[in-house]
Amino acid sequence: MSRTPFVGGNFKCTGTASSLTSLVKGFNDSITGYPEVEVVIAPGTGYLGLVKAVAHRNIGISAQNCVPKSGAYTGEMSAEQVKDMGLPYVILGHSERRHVFRETDAEIAAKVKAALAQKLCVIFCVGEKLDEREANKTQEVCFHQMKAALTTIAPADWKNIVIAYEPVWAIGTGKVASPEQAQEATALIRSWLSDNINASVASSTRILYGGSVNAKNCADLWARRDIDGFLVGGASTKPEFSEIVKACVKPKAK
Ligand code: PEP
Repeated sequence: MSRTPFVGGNFKCTGTASSLTSLVKGFNDSITGYPEVEVVIAPGTGYLGLVKAVAHRNIGISAQNCVPKSGAYTGEMSAEQVKDMGLPYVILGHSERRHVFRETDAEIAAKVKAALAQKLCVIFCVGEKLDEREANKTQEVCFHQMKAALTTIAPADWKNIVIAYEPVWAIGTGKVASPEQAQEATALIRSWLSDNINASVASSTRILYGGSVNAKNCADLWARRDIDGFLVGGASTKPEFSEIVKACVKPKAK
């Protein structure tokens, strides 16, 4: 089955009103010429409204996180509020949420559940730390993270899940996974979907690679069969993001 390529840009906690406006105006010109690729950008919470107003309607806007419920949760934004702001996407389980802010598997699972209940599309991140890769635990870690959040998803909600394989050692380090490493891990994730959900979900779910992707290394990664696109941090805050989108227009070799 052919899967629509997906490229997400995670601006993290960077940018100002002025820099984000000119960045996104540049994307409006350079990215929207590739309608074959689903492109989503995730600015910091305070800039969601501004970026939504500036971005071309073909560029989707994502929150970088949400909490399950509205209420007395100072500093947070709920799944309901993400939906109410007219934002179709949310990133959940990002390694910085897992390892810097110490979110647990149970907390992430509750967020995924709440976001899907709001009909948001969840960009769900998994990935191993360096010591875990060195101990040959990549599969164990990714499968554990998926099992914790994805086993109870209703069949109809799978169309709203995109999985991003993001090895923690590659995020923001300039140390990109090799195409072989990225293909191996994304194929493992697809095999987990086949074994634990079903063959149709395994063949239709987009699985991204994320971790130091840039305009130079994206083509070799994109050529790999199980990589359906990218989640991009640093390079998404630069004009080269459009080169990464453009790379995903190329048909995969059979
Ligand atoms: C990310 O934050 O999801 C990411 C992949 O960052 P970078 O591209 O900067 O490694």
